[in-house]
Amino acid sequence: LSKRLEGIFSNLSGQGKLTEDDVNAALREVRIALIEADVNLKVARQFVERVKQKAIGADVMGSLSPAQQVLSIVNEELIEVLGGTDDKNKLDLSGAPPNVIMLVGLQGAGKTTTAAKLANYLRKQGSRPLMVAADMYRPAAVKQLQTLGKQLTVPVYSEPMGANPVDICANSIAYAREQACNVVILDTAGRLNIDERMMNEIITIRNRIQPREVLLVADAMTGQEAVRVAQDFNQAVSLTGMILTKMDGDARGGAALSIRSVTGVPVKFMTVGEKMDALEPFYPDRLASRILGMGDVLSLIERAQETIDQEEAMKAQAKLQQGKFDLEDFLSAMRQLKRMGPLRQVMEMLPGMNKLMDMPEMEEALEGDQLKYVEAIILSMTRDERRNPDIINGSRRRRIARGSGTGVEEVNQLLKQFAEMRTMIRQVSSGKGPWAQMARQF
Ligand code: GDP
Ligand code: MG
Repeated sequence: LSKRLEGIFSNLSGQGKLTEDDVNAALREVRIALIEADVNLKVARQFVERVKQKAIGADVMGSLSPAQQVLSIVNEELIEVLGGTDDKNKLDLSGAPPNVIMLVGLQGAGKTTTAAKLANYLRKQGSRPLMVAADMYRPAAVKQLQTLGKQLTVPVYSEPMGANPVDICANSIAYAREQACNVVILDTAGRLNIDERMMNEIITIRNRIQPREVLLVADAMTGQEAVRVAQDFNQAVSLTGMILTKMDGDARGGAALSIRSVTGVPVKFMTVGEKMDALEPFYPDRLASRILGMGDVLSLIERAQETIDQEEAMKAQAKLQQGKFDLEDFLSAMRQLKRMGPLRQVMEMLPGMNKLMDMPEMEEALEGDQLKYVEAIILSMTRDERRNPDIINGSRRRRIARGSGTGVEEVNQLLKQFAEMRTMIRQVSSGKGPWAQMARQF
């Protein structure tokens, strides 16, 4: 039903061009979504400002509501800021082999497991990776990498405890040549907090080895903290990219946007679980919709554009603006929705709709054969009854039930739903109540 609202109320305020009010209202929601996704406050503000410049005065397209349209501009811009189809998002292994990938980051961020996932990934692509245990501060760290190496049958280079991490890395390159490995992955030591000794160590390794890639491994769950960490590491060793870990949790990944905006460092991979194949290349478009919590709003918008009959929508809109809504409109709204595919699926694509879906009335309205009853019942009414549902008394209800092959129970139910919908619609057209608020968002 609320999906209906969205379709029918589209364009209530948008005429011709997007107005500043339309844009501001939609962008307020976007800013909240960004901040909820852990995007840094300043970044969110700047981002929204950029979108605003683009959106105000843009031509209103087809059947999109102003809010939908702003959202699609937001989405495009977000993808752009996240690097779009930029090659910077890809791993660079174009140097003379062995290409060295150095992983840096705080303790617990996921460096060691990511080293193994990356080795697994690269081997599937046809490379011959070598992993290097350069974390000499925790004896368990070397063991951990060796275990993962054995599991994947990827060679691991290590030296006895007490060895100098810089030497280990340098020696590992020679070893890689011997073993004909063409990619070397350095798993360096992390600390709980950034400290000078750790930084000095990785700066020294970087200068000595000159890795092709220096990737920050950052825990997406740490949200805004990750931005500060990225800035510090970037200043010290100038990162070539980052890998965002633990994206299988409920982190929305706003850190990626903040880090990319603040430091310009591209995200190259994300990890999405503890299994060795839980590493994916970075797709800006996917992260963009995740950050916005939009579900799949854009494909919904496309679908709506294809199916909603423009003329019908205009008629409905004209009526709504006068606060009029009768059973004929109700039927045509239901039919429009039907054409958009299974209702539940459509609803689920909308952000924030899941809560509404849990309402008992929604459940009822979405039951499979609902539309068949709706059609049969409404078509069994006289024209007067459809235009003027309030005249449908007890004896009329019995007649309609007989005529439609349903029961009085079903007729009552439909009239009740209709009445509820009409209340919502009146609220919306008068600009009051929770439904009006929702319609303004979409
Ligand atoms: P390091 O200290 O930076 O080397 O971090 P580790 O690689 O040892 O990982 C720390 C913890 O995070 C381990 O328990 C990992 O299994 C876990 N971890 C790493 N990446 C992911 C991920 O993508 N998803 C989940 N759920 N856990 C992860
Ligand atoms: Mg480790």
